[in-house]
Amino acid sequence: MFARPQPLYWLTLDPVRGASHAWLALALALAAAIAGLDYITGYDFSLLIAYLVPIFLATWMIGRAAGVALACIAVGLWTAMFAFKHPFSHPFLFMWEAALQFCVYIIFVVVLNHLRIALAHADERFVTVLEGLHASVYVVDAGGGELLYLNQKGREAFGGGGTSSVREIERRLGIRFADLMVAQQSGAGMPLEMRDSATGKWYWLAVRVMRWVDGRIVQLHIATDITARKQAEEVARQQHEKLDMTARLVTVGEMASVLAHELNQPLAAIANYNMGCVRRLRSGNWRPGELLDALEKSSAQAGRAGSIIQRVREFLRKRELDLAPSDLSGMIMDVAGLIRAEAGRHAIDLRLDLDPRLPKALADGIMIKQVLINLVRNAIEAMQAVPAEQRELRIHSSAESPDRLHVEVADRGPGLPSELTENLFRPFFTTKADGMGMGLQICRSIIEFHGGRMWATANPGGGVVIHFTLVVAKP
Ligand code: ADP
Repeated sequence: MFARPQPLYWLTLDPVRGASHAWLALALALAAAIAGLDYITGYDFSLLIAYLVPIFLATWMIGRAAGVALACIAVGLWTAMFAFKHPFSHPFLFMWEAALQFCVYIIFVVVLNHLRIALAHADERFVTVLEGLHASVYVVDAGGGELLYLNQKGREAFGGGGTSSVREIERRLGIRFADLMVAQQSGAGMPLEMRDSATGKWYWLAVRVMRWVDGRIVQLHIATDITARKQAEEVARQQHEKLDMTARLVTVGEMASVLAHELNQPLAAIANYNMGCVRRLRSGNWRPGELLDALEKSSAQAGRAGSIIQRVREFLRKRELDLAPSDLSGMIMDVAGLIRAEAGRHAIDLRLDLDPRLPKALADGIMIKQVLINLVRNAIEAMQAVPAEQRELRIHSSAESPDRLHVEVADRGPGLPSELTENLFRPFFTTKADGMGMGLQICRSIIEFHGGRMWATANPGGGVVIHFTLVVAKP
């Protein structure tokens, strides 16, 4: 429910009781004066029309009943005065004139009263809307000195009214109304969002210069409370910052785990080759060819470690891949060459099922090899838990469509329970005591950077198949 609105203008349907008495007294005095003037002038001037003034005052300022009363009094006075003079040839003409006058007065009162009520209702509707608005609406005169109107919301927000409120609003919003006026007239930009220093609330201020009901130039301000929006923006900004920070941390974490994960293998190989050389040298049973071969392999592994670091560094710096038409089967065979010894140690039967007519893939060779090594190593680790005769690792490549190549890395390990299939690519998901749970996540990111897709399915014969696709390089 809205509070009863305060009228904007002097027009009102409920005049103050004392004021209506004063208006009635004034109207009566005017009627008496007109009658006296009529008598003094000997009815030579027709002053009948002059009675409309007190009738107007009574109707407009007090109401219809007062207007009708004044109309009766005016006709009564006129009739009484004429009764002395008898200017009409026949009494009927005199009565006819009086009746006509009365009708004119009554019509005047009725029309005037309708107009008054319509105007007052229009005013009341207008004020009710303003009072019911959720925004603070106030009107200050052009210089910003006087507060002419303040709606309900404005009174709640800034209190009271009057000139003190003008200074109070200016102080709290950190603006000067006179400056706003100048800015409006010069077309200069104004700060639209303002903070109320007393309550901490935010307002969006719309200012319009216009003419007030009494003709003077005023500023109409509509201050909409945007605190909730501001708070939501602030929360969103903070969340965005946190997300940004988390994303950066994840990237750093990803890269750290890539290095840890991927450097482990070449470093272990280097250590093995070196230890082999040391053992042979210690035993005194060595041939230069063997040592040379081992040292060359060790150096190749060191080179691979260096290229991994280089690639990761570039990846971090540019987040761009070195995409080029690459031979997918060649990459798989390279990885198989690297991993075969390890597979042999774990009694794993490594099978390659490669399509020799595959078109070239658009890929970063080193990155795709890292993906393959990671998948193959996961498969080898998974198959440690199954009997040796069952351990089979198959890498299959094919053309899924004219513009997409498909790779499968299938093992015969214990497989994945269905709830784990969903978690498989989730960062930090691991079932290994020393695992980081980042390998598959990074693999998928790399494949997605290539425009491909990675997913897992169950191997019909038991175990897991990890699939990925790559885009065919355009000739
Ligand atoms: P990490 O090996 O470092 O833990 P990965 O992202 O490579 O991280 O793998 C996450 C988890 O997914 C592993 O801990 C393992 O439980 C499961 N997983 C991955 N590959 C296979 C697979 N071929 N067979 C069964 N489980 C697998």
